[in-house]
Amino acid sequence: MSRVFNFSAGPAVLPEEVLREAADEMLDYKGTGMSVMEMSHRSGAFDTIIKEAEQDLRDLMGIPSNYKVLFLQGGAHLQFSMIPMNLMKHGTADYIVTGHWAERAWKEAARYGKANCIASSKDKNYSYIPDCSDLPIDEEADYVYICQNNTIYGTQFHTLPNTKGKDLVADVSSCFLSEPIDVERYGLIYGGAQKNIGPAGVVIAVIREDLITEEVYPQTPTMLKYKTHADKDSLYNTPPAYGIYICGKVFKWLKRQGGLGEIEKKNHQKAALLYGYLDQSRLFVPTAEKSSRSYMNVDFVTGDKELDAQFVKEAEAAGLSGLKGHRSVGGMRASIYNAMSLKGVEALVGFMEEFEKAHRK
Ligand SMILES: *Cc1c(COP(=O)(O)O)cnc(C)c1O
Repeated sequence: MSRVFNFSAGPAVLPEEVLREAADEMLDYKGTGMSVMEMSHRSGAFDTIIKEAEQDLRDLMGIPSNYKVLFLQGGAHLQFSMIPMNLMKHGTADYIVTGHWAERAWKEAARYGKANCIASSKDKNYSYIPDCSDLPIDEEADYVYICQNNTIYGTQFHTLPNTKGKDLVADVSSCFLSEPIDVERYGLIYGGAQKNIGPAGVVIAVIREDLITEEVYPQTPTMLKYKTHADKDSLYNTPPAYGIYICGKVFKWLKRQGGLGEIEKKNHQKAALLYGYLDQSRLFVPTAEKSSRSYMNVDFVTGDKELDAQFVKEAEAAGLSGLKGHRSVGGMRASIYNAMSLKGVEALVGFMEEFEKAHRK
């Protein structure tokens, strides 16, 4: 068996300890004589799994008791629809468009009401986070929406926007649990699991209770109402049970690492190593503006498409996988989520140094 250093943006690397535990429990979960995959979601064993997962997440994030934790499905994409269907009570919302996923969410919201784009960084191919300290917030807006970490462009909000009292809704798919956050500053925080938490198929939403109401967009399907899932503690229908089980193991792993404060330190250390190298490199150029850089996704180019392709190919052969950049930026992207070790980033930087020596003109 040999594992590579996996820099894929998602689905992405998971802690090896978690995968080993899951492997050990594959055929017989804690004396039940079956895999969690084969188990009724109404069983006592699964009830413990989902309740512990929720409690561990609450402990990690410091989620106040007036917020619900929902385990949902449909990817981050379904939230692009569920959010306006459930939260646009007055038919208006403000979107800050800082990348592909924020743009998708904004366009989807426009199907349900008036979705304003109140700030954008499209003018420079989403390479920065605009100043959001004094935006033209619509008086009628039900919420202000951001994508907190822009997975494709490698940018991140380091300061939350001034929403002028409106509820903040954030897609944190690619920065979930990467640093401590103040949950009370948000009305809704959500993310797909497959970037930083677990397997694809699970979406976690942390939502303030008063936002969960029967009053939703007309004809909203039962499955797309937050209330349906909140009232039944995420067990209205069969949840993505195995995925929730793995997420739960990742939460316990994060606790063993010392919680989000410690994880943040490690993430900053990894990012500092990689950006530090990039900033002095005479071959590689980072693409995001310095003040907007993401701690999770690091984008860089050589300026020569053929050389970029050669780099990705040679890195792959050296056990550094998933470094090809998204087509809208080109070049390379190293995703250095929680489960990527410092050793992995050191290996990447070492490889880049060798490549630079061989190819610098
Ligand atoms: C990957 C990603 C998405 C899309 O997720 P799906 O689960 O494929 O719908 C949305 N937002 C962000 C920030 C992402 O990184």
